[in-house]
Amino acid sequence: MAVEVNELVNLCSFAGERFDLSQAGGGNASFVRDGELWITASGWPLSDVKDASGTCRLDHAALVETMRNLKGKQSKLEKTELERVAGKAVAQCSKTPDVRPSIETLMHCLLGPFTLHTHPIAVTALLCRKNWKSVIQSLYPEAICVDYETPGVRLALALMDKLDEISEAENKVVDTGGNGSALSKKNKSKSKKVFLENHGVIISAPTVEEVIDSTNEVVAKVGEHLGLNLAHYRLTNQITSLMRTVSTESVCSYYCEDKVLLDALKSNEDLIIERPSWPDQLVYCGSAGLRLKSLGDARSIKDFIEKYQHLPKVIVVDDHLFIVDRTIKHCRRLEEVLKAHVMMLSNADMDEVQFLSNDEQQYLLNWEAEKARQRM
Ligand SMILES: [Zn+2]
Repeated sequence: MAVEVNELVNLCSFAGERFDLSQAGGGNASFVRDGELWITASGWPLSDVKDASGTCRLDHAALVETMRNLKGKQSKLEKTELERVAGKAVAQCSKTPDVRPSIETLMHCLLGPFTLHTHPIAVTALLCRKNWKSVIQSLYPEAICVDYETPGVRLALALMDKLDEISEAENKVVDTGGNGSALSKKNKSKSKKVFLENHGVIISAPTVEEVIDSTNEVVAKVGEHLGLNLAHYRLTNQITSLMRTVSTESVCSYYCEDKVLLDALKSNEDLIIERPSWPDQLVYCGSAGLRLKSLGDARSIKDFIEKYQHLPKVIVVDDHLFIVDRTIKHCRRLEEVLKAHVMMLSNADMDEVQFLSNDEQQYLLNWEAEKARQRM
């Protein structure tokens, strides 16, 4: 099972660092294996999921059974009562009761083996338009289009109806005599693209690679249709891949769009790259920034690690500025500190600036209290 958990973590890492896919911790991911559904925990931003502790494990067959029961009760229950009954039933399926599973757990149990739900800006932009369905059907005739429903059990039931319709139609054509339910094995193992009106996208496929490729493809194609090019956010995945070639540390890359920092990068790159001027800058941003010759420039990263004994956290490639840290939350914190540094020195004559001495830098980097603060 450890292999699948690592793959789920990779899926979370892919989407969690992409602002164009996941904002403010939105989105969820899962896999189904050996009768269990593993899904990201409720309230956990995807970039925070580093191991099994950010996931919940549930009895898959019991979740499927729950969906069948809820379908029967749906018309008899008020909206809030349906949500209450569903929440209780999901909790009873959990094998990790201390962690709350994603609100979309029931939706995920209908799909798999690997499933990723995101709120891509380029795609949701279309899904919020009146003609969304006809555009999606022309771009992806095989896609599943689900009309708007409140996230959670009602959305899961709407998806289940769609999957049942598809299974019944397929069985009529092929007449295999198989189970016509949305939850049949045949239906489950296929790759699927699901578009949710006014909400987002779900991609499920047999492997993580297929889920990632399909998500990227959908975002690029729908974005192209709308003339909305957000391809620069994909560069974060490339930076993280590059870091993985030189280090086993689990990192996340953030595409910086802060005007103060980008203006500084243009007018005086030293402000971004130079050694630190105050303790917080060293602790959060590292000993220096690093300009790479290209997105494949592993050599410069290796040289940086050899010189400073830590990974670079502020990386410049062409006119792009990336921040690399453990999670998106850490990256945003680093961005604040770097911005403060730039603002402090923006009017200064660089020859007059007093930077931290090498000895003090060494002392601070080894300071246990600071290390603990960094980890928080
Ligand atoms: Zn959602």
